Amino acid sequence: MIKRYPKNVPGDFYVEDGCCMSCGVPESEAGDMFEWDELETYVHCYVRRQPETPSDTEKMLNVVWNAEVECIRYAGSDPEIIRRLVQSGEGSVCDDNLRHQYRAEARDEVLFVRDNATPGTLAAEFHAYLFGIPGFDERPRYAVRMGAASEREAIIRLSWFAPHFHRLRFRRGSTESEWRVQIEPEIKEAGRAVCRILQGWLDSNANIRDQRWSSRAERMAGIAQPFAY
Ligand code: SF4
Repeated sequence: MIKRYPKNVPGDFYVEDGCCMSCGVPESEAGDMFEWDELETYVHCYVRRQPETPSDTEKMLNVVWNAEVECIRYAGSDPEIIRRLVQSGEGSVCDDNLRHQYRAEARDEVLFVRDNATPGTLAAEFHAYLFGIPGFDERPRYAVRMGAASEREAIIRLSWFAPHFHRLRFRRGSTESEWRVQIEPEIKEAGRAVCRILQGWLDSNANIRDQRWSSRAERMAGIAQPFAY
């Protein structure tokens, strides 16, 4: 039986009792919704305010996705939140049985529209975005390698734990303005974090529009989503 940490404010999101490893993620992602309990022998974070706006909900989901253990749980029944958590591979943090209606999706490809670009300029813009993420270049195990770009494609390799790299291939799509980024190898837990970083760049770039994310199964079914998770 999963127990809420007693100081959590009532509501859909809560921190499980006894599972805190002081990861620091809530402070950096959603400091106004979490609080620290500093006890004599240990510290424990808890939810002090539930999300009130769509932006709050996105911040809360980012904490769920980035926390080092599955300590932040969702007891609500909003199908959209449950779908996103399950598809991102975090279905086990949902209390509601609705979670069984969905399955994890490995979204390893995004198509989007961007005028006046080349594979090299897109890769360079993503590279600059990475190093603009607060604290990104201060984490010693993170590594980014930029390959040589051609007219056909550019590759960036990204790792949290070098030498295990994820490859991002920037390629032309079916028109002059359509672009495709493929993430390799197969998307697993860390690969989903790469998806979210890539989506952060796409969302932040005013020149990019019409994102279409898909897993292999979704491509075979002819469907795509406007966001990774
Ligand atoms: S997110 Fe989890 S591990 Fe991180 S500080 Fe909160 S309870 Fe602790």
